[in-house]
Amino acid sequence: MSLNGQEITILGAGIAGLAAARALALRGASVTVLEQAEALREVGAGLQISPNGAAVLRALDLGRDLETAGLRAQAVELRDGLADEPILRMDLSDRDYRFLHRADLIAILAEGARSAGAQIRLLQQIETVDLSGESPVLTTRQGARISTPLLIGADGLHSKLREALDGASKLTFTNQVAWRALIPCETDAPSVAEVFMGEGRHVVSYPLRGGVLRNIVAIEERRRWTEESWSMRDDPMELRLAFESFAPRVRNWLEQADQVWLWGLFRHPVAKTWHRGRAAILGDAAHPTLPFLAQGANMALEDAWVLADQLDKAARPEEGLAAYQLAREARCRRIVEAANRNAHAYHLSGPLRDAAHLALKIGGKIAPRFALSRFDWVYQYDVTAS
Ligand SMILES: Cc1cc2nc3c(=O)[nH]c(=O)nc-3n(C[C@H](O)[C@H](O)[C@H](O)COP(=O)(O)OP(=O)(O)OC[C@H]3O[C@@H](n4cnc5c(N)ncnc54)[C@H](O)[C@@H]3O)c2cc1C
Repeated sequence: MSLNGQEITILGAGIAGLAAARALALRGASVTVLEQAEALREVGAGLQISPNGAAVLRALDLGRDLETAGLRAQAVELRDGLADEPILRMDLSDRDYRFLHRADLIAILAEGARSAGAQIRLLQQIETVDLSGESPVLTTRQGARISTPLLIGADGLHSKLREALDGASKLTFTNQVAWRALIPCETDAPSVAEVFMGEGRHVVSYPLRGGVLRNIVAIEERRRWTEESWSMRDDPMELRLAFESFAPRVRNWLEQADQVWLWGLFRHPVAKTWHRGRAAILGDAAHPTLPFLAQGANMALEDAWVLADQLDKAARPEEGLAAYQLAREARCRRIVEAANRNAHAYHLSGPLRDAAHLALKIGGKIAPRFALSRFDWVYQYDVTAS
């Protein structure tokens, strides 16, 4: 089916929605993005864009923006969080792996979507999605009723379209919380993502914006999460206390964090049904993941490309959407499971932790490329190549 002039409505102007808007509009579709927020804002935080996500940005002709906004990564390094000693270094210097500010990626994608002809309409909170007729019908909070020939749900973890496709599923707390903070970066900091591992907790940190800022994500295991809000400001002292046994370098960074956000990490299982008739979901709406492989945004970019490509190739939209789920589901499930396993490995304690760290150290000496090549199926996969 040619996408030329095809009307498409996308719910949500996050990474998935904006990337899909550009991908579809570049192929001639007439795209409208409906976003509930009053502005395209992002909390200050970093993102790691790995080669598989970078390949999509390049194919969307946004490679130059990626290079300007993204700091080229030299390595990912696992460290003992208490002793600040290296455990394993994965060299990324020959890979297109970058550290970006989330707000910069959103700005690049929003500008990319608009310049390709997509319209982004703010303050459009969708309350219901009805898939019972031939065309999907939406109602907004303001009471407007919108019928659309093709509906794409990029509305994240609390997706209304996912609910309409897959039924309501309960969000489960993963027993982990994540603090996020940005601090000024020390001059000449290496462009390395350092993972400081400790018992039941870890910190990930890397420089951003040409090395001016330092991104900090700190994860702690917790039995309960009682806040109603799933993201909120927190007292920086809570963060400092949680990591008071960590090495001075980490503690010094946390001392500088004066604005801190706290997330309870919640999950839905990967959705069983990603499409029906003329509607489909992508990104976190379809397969929310824990952040321990830094792949949520990268998978969203891959989804957006494949969705546009399959719709473009198919004789009918229904066939294109079915081909899209078939092309994506197994890979996304595998990545989500690998991220779950990483959470466990980072938080080991006692003799198990000593043994695992020793094995990683020895492995890193004997076969330094192996640690990274184990993840080639994630990073070296290029959805734009076929
Ligand atoms: C601590 C942490 C660190 C992370 N680090 C990384 C990383 O380094 N690399 C990486 O690849 N991923 C990372 N991720 C994951 C990544 O942030 C997400 O997977 C990604 O943002 C998902 O994008 P999305 O567009 O699918 O959803 P979202 O970003 O959630 O966007 C959904 C959009 O839909 C809008 N919306 C929702 N409901 C409605 C409605 N009813 N009506 C209208 N609009 C609506 C929302 O306002 C929002 O703009 C991290 C996540 C966390 C929590």
